[in-house]
Amino acid sequence: MTKEKVLKKLTIDCEKCCGLCCVALYFSKSDGFPTDKAAGKPCVNLISDFRCSIHSKLIECKMKGCLAYDCFGAGQMVTQSIYHGSDWKSMPETSEQMYKVFLIVWQLHQMLWYLVEASSLVFDSDIKNDIDALITENENVTKLSPDEILNFDIDKYKSKINNILRNVIKLISNANNTKIIDKKTVNFIGKNFKKQNLDGRDLSMTLLIAANLEGCSLNGTNFLGADLRDANIKNTNLSKSIFLTQGQINSAIGNKNTILPSYLSLPISWN
Ligand code: SF4
Ligand code: SF4
Repeated sequence: MTKEKVLKKLTIDCEKCCGLCCVALYFSKSDGFPTDKAAGKPCVNLISDFRCSIHSKLIECKMKGCLAYDCFGAGQMVTQSIYHGSDWKSMPETSEQMYKVFLIVWQLHQMLWYLVEASSLVFDSDIKNDIDALITENENVTKLSPDEILNFDIDKYKSKINNILRNVIKLISNANNTKIIDKKTVNFIGKNFKKQNLDGRDLSMTLLIAANLEGCSLNGTNFLGADLRDANIKNTNLSKSIFLTQGQINSAIGNKNTILPSYLSLPISWN
């Protein structure tokens, strides 16, 4: 499968889902959701056809959490492929199982997103083969039955992904002649980087909450796992930044002049 095809599969399609994120997940009011809610309890705004009754008012109601959330296409995969179009409401006896499967597929799809990006960035054939094997393993797991998915050793798989991503980041940082950021320097909350040249910088796993990245040069800048909530990316070109996800973009503040990689979309909340 090509990178474009895989990334398309990882794009949310709520029409084909039974509102899984709005029921399966724990969430809290302070994180921009309507109420504090336990996992497995439907949101008060989820209506009978699995749509959100306040969808058109999410911006007005300041539901930042709902607006930012992205399941990497796990919702439609679980509803349509793994449970063949069934939903948690019509089969209450398996709803708990469905939520657990959703959480595993969500993690698998997030890792698949990073693997596909990593594969497009490296030229070393040994590492590329290792990445391709992990992509195949990932795709095969989501073809299994719900019970088999629940028995899959996700922690072991995750540690293989972490190792390979660490190697890829090391290779990219060496090629760009940039230093990998150590744990002491991950806190950039509120930092003003305005118009700085951050090309090739490794900002993976950093806290960039409310940081100002407006007008920065970000070619090859690595955002893997960075927290971009309320980061200012107005008038900023991120088209060549790497390891960005739709969820990170949804949580940041951009405008119509923000340029994203071709596989990401401008959030509706920026209009
Ligand atoms: S789980 Fe994903 S596809 Fe389903 S409603 Fe939530 S965001 Fe949409
Ligand atoms: S407010 Fe709407 S989008 Fe947010 S959790 Fe509830 S039903 Fe889902």
